[in-house]
Amino acid sequence: MGLVAKNKHTNELVYIFDYKNPRSELKKDDLLCHLCGGELIIKAGLVRIKHFSHKPNSPCSCDYERHPESEEHLFFKRLIATQLSSEFEEYLNAKPLLEYPVHEVHRVADIVFAFPSGWLVAHEIQLSSITTEQLERRTNDYRNAGVDVIWWLGKSADTETNRQWLYKNYGECYTLDWDEVHKICTEND
Ligand SMILES: [Zn+2]
Repeated sequence: MGLVAKNKHTNELVYIFDYKNPRSELKKDDLLCHLCGGELIIKAGLVRIKHFSHKPNSPCSCDYERHPESEEHLFFKRLIATQLSSEFEEYLNAKPLLEYPVHEVHRVADIVFAFPSGWLVAHEIQLSSITTEQLERRTNDYRNAGVDVIWWLGKSADTETNRQWLYKNYGECYTLDWDEVHKICTEND
C-alpha cells in the first residue's frame, strides 16, 4: 500500500493526498502501480489515511525491498514529504519523490529528495524494530547507489541503542513521536 500511483496515459505520478476526494477525482482505470504497473484500488475509509493498494489476489510484482507500511508510516511519509522544506532551508528547492525506487539496490525509499544539482537524499522512516546491522546495511546500499540517507525512528525502532549507534556513526538521527505529532496535526486540521 502506498501514496503514489502512475497515470497510465501520461505516465505522471499521482499523489493521493493531492486529492480531497480521490474516488471522485481520479478515474479508476487510469491508475497503475508506479513500481510494477499492476492494477490498484483506492482504500479510503472515513478516518483512515487514503492510500492506493494492490488487489489482495494480485500483490505487487516488484520484488524490491520495502517496509510493511502501517497507517502511521503513511502519515509520517506524507508529513516529511510536505513539511521538511518549511523546516529546513536547504530543502526549499528539493523535490520530494515518494516511494522512490532505487534500482541499483532493489529498494524503495520512503522519500527521496532530489536537489536541483542532482544530489539525492533518502529519508527513511522506521517504526518496526530494526537492528543496527540492518540500519547499516540499508544505509550502505543507498550510499553505494550514490544516495545519502537520513533516518527517522519511531515506535519500536526508536531504541536507545539505535539512536546512539546512528549518532556515533552518522552524526544524526531524528525521532518521531506518533502520539505527539498526530495530536498537533489533528489540532491544526
Ligand atoms: Zn506494484
